[in-house]
Amino acid sequence: MLVDLDDDLGNAIAQAVVDEYRRPSKLENKTLHQFRNARPKETETTVLAGLVKIESNSRPIDQAKRQKVAEKPQLDVLAVCTGMKVTPAAKLEHSQGRLVHDSHAEILCLRLFNWLVLQEMKAIRENSGSELLIRGHSTEQYRFKNNSQFALYISEIPCGDASTENLRDSVADQTDWHNLEETEGTLRGRNGLNRLGSVRTKPGRKDSPISYSKSCSDKLCLKQFTSMLSSLVYDLVDEPPYLTFLVLPKQKINKAAIERCFRDRIKMSRELSSYYHPLTVLATDLPSPFAGSTPSNLSILYCPPRSYLQVLSKGVRNGCPAKKSVQYQHQSDVSRQKLAELATKLTPHQFQDYHELKRRASVSARKKLAREAIGHWGKSSEDNFALNHV
Ligand SMILES: [Zn+2]
Repeated sequence: MLVDLDDDLGNAIAQAVVDEYRRPSKLENKTLHQFRNARPKETETTVLAGLVKIESNSRPIDQAKRQKVAEKPQLDVLAVCTGMKVTPAAKLEHSQGRLVHDSHAEILCLRLFNWLVLQEMKAIRENSGSELLIRGHSTEQYRFKNNSQFALYISEIPCGDASTENLRDSVADQTDWHNLEETEGTLRGRNGLNRLGSVRTKPGRKDSPISYSKSCSDKLCLKQFTSMLSSLVYDLVDEPPYLTFLVLPKQKINKAAIERCFRDRIKMSRELSSYYHPLTVLATDLPSPFAGSTPSNLSILYCPPRSYLQVLSKGVRNGCPAKKSVQYQHQSDVSRQKLAELATKLTPHQFQDYHELKRRASVSARKKLAREAIGHWGKSSEDNFALNHV
């Protein structure tokens, strides 16, 4: 079933993330202080997302309904992120992979998860072991331990197709409904709200500069075919993991919109269906932790298993300038350049630049097929840079 409104697993997952957000268990002193300062003020708002690992051996999912309260699943929070901003395309194209263009909380969670996976691989190489991974059969690959399942909690319905009806119902000025302004063939965030099932860019103010970054609905839909791993991490893992659950606020779930976004709009071919790992959407009654209305400029990246925290503003580390050329030391640890640097140290292959790395990734053909099946994907930002192998 794609939408399961009754499962209490949804509440348990959301609660685990919100608890870790309210009282970070793995941060101390200076970083804890930094974390608290990065949370939105009372007048501000943001989106909270968290990635949770579920030990499937402690709770087989097909028996979920028959479980007793005493047999609670083991939930480990791997990433907690906040954010609702996106960087305009014009800035990205000169950033040398150093800007984090998409700071929506759920996408940051997936970036941070890829960072964690690379850190764990590095730790295994340095013989310090890992809670998450073991070496695979081939020496260059790693495997996830224990057949874990993964859930992503988001305090709002993802932007884009899954929330189009919600947005339409909340807009007072309904003239935009029929405005079909397109950029390079892709529908811009809030335009044409009566057009359902379309790929959209991230929503932004009407007067804001264009970003080609696709909506979270579209990106999460694509992940059903390409796993939670980015293309540069994908080839380092034997059996890349997929998201099993998406946990969303019950009151805002529009069942038809969710089913359309993550299933019905996909023109499924036989080949593609063999790659399809459908998400199950679970509901939570937990209210969003934010009461204000002004969007916060800051993004929290918190990775409990590594007691790691980084705060971002405008796609770079908080306090650093986000000018046209971002200095090396000002970039986030989850920027394209930093993640590519980590990944190239772990792979035996050599790549001239970032584009070559992406192009040669084994998942790239499947990604292309899946994009075509979801809808007209349109232009993406160019952000190439040289890769130095050391
Ligand atoms: Zn979004």
